[in-house]
Amino acid sequence: MPMIEVHDLHKSYGGRTAVDGVSFTVEEGEIFGVLGPNGAGKTTTVECVAGLRVPDSGTVRVAGLDPVARHTDVTRLLGVQLQQSELQAKLTVREALELYASFHERPADWRGLAERLGLDAQLGTRYAKLSGGQQQRLFIALALIGNPRAVILDELTTGLDPRGRRDTWALVESVRDSGVTVLLVTHFMEEAQRLCDRVAVIDRGRVTALDTPAGLIGRAAHGSTVSFDAATPLAAAELLALPGAAGVETRDGRTVLTGNDATVDAFVQLLARRAVTARGLRVTDATLDDAYLDLTGADQ
Ligand code: ATP
Repeated sequence: MPMIEVHDLHKSYGGRTAVDGVSFTVEEGEIFGVLGPNGAGKTTTVECVAGLRVPDSGTVRVAGLDPVARHTDVTRLLGVQLQQSELQAKLTVREALELYASFHERPADWRGLAERLGLDAQLGTRYAKLSGGQQQRLFIALALIGNPRAVILDELTTGLDPRGRRDTWALVESVRDSGVTVLLVTHFMEEAQRLCDRVAVIDRGRVTALDTPAGLIGRAAHGSTVSFDAATPLAAAELLALPGAAGVETRDGRTVLTGNDATVDAFVQLLARRAVTARGLRVTDATLDDAYLDLTGADQ
């Protein structure tokens, strides 16, 4: 049985459609990403999964249970860290962990959790005095305190510096390695590419793509780009004739050839054949960013 199933979910606010027929399943042990532009319906979708919103129509199941009808059971199975979570400013880390532990019948050992999440030195620190990264780690700890089988993490690393973001990624991986299924909402392609087993791209309330990050990248219009000093004696027509070549342009004194893996291979062979050296040669692969922009036609 999948850990999370969403089938043909619809949700409107007033007359305005936020979620318009979203379907996906998350298997046990997966890190499943939900990506999409602002206002796409990501948070509404995961709030329906958590039983915090009632769908207008469609089916949601968490370990086979309806999160609205079986809300208490589902809160035991599913930990939730929602976007823009806030705690009372004066609450210390210890107090917050103890308080949230008291909501659960069989909570995790909060001291062990604090240690695992690198918060043991902050137990006496008030919430308002924690750094952004420490606050996020506390929210992960609170989402895990009920020993859930799955956890929803919504825009976990927004506002963190690159180090804080990487530390948080390592934490998310360790959460999954401990056997917890992760449903991750993110705006960061690098984050999705690094962490997620599969990704659903949601745009205007609909799933526009659902695949592994590598599968999505494979759909990017241009898989690979070769660029080199424009003074290199190779004609644009010659480059465009290479297999898979999609375009050639000159940018900032560099020739930029877009194509795929076959284009790169053929380009290298062309250099050897012609005994030409392409100075400043760089080959870059498409990223999830490229695929995302192709899929949504939107800025992040
Ligand atoms: P973001 O990336 O900006 O967080 P999102 O993809 O999570 O966006 P949602 O927060 O689910 O999107 O919002 C989807 C749509 O529903 C938006 O148009 C939003 O303005 C609207 N919406 C969300 N919550 C409410 C609400 N409580 N009342 C009315 N409209 C809402």
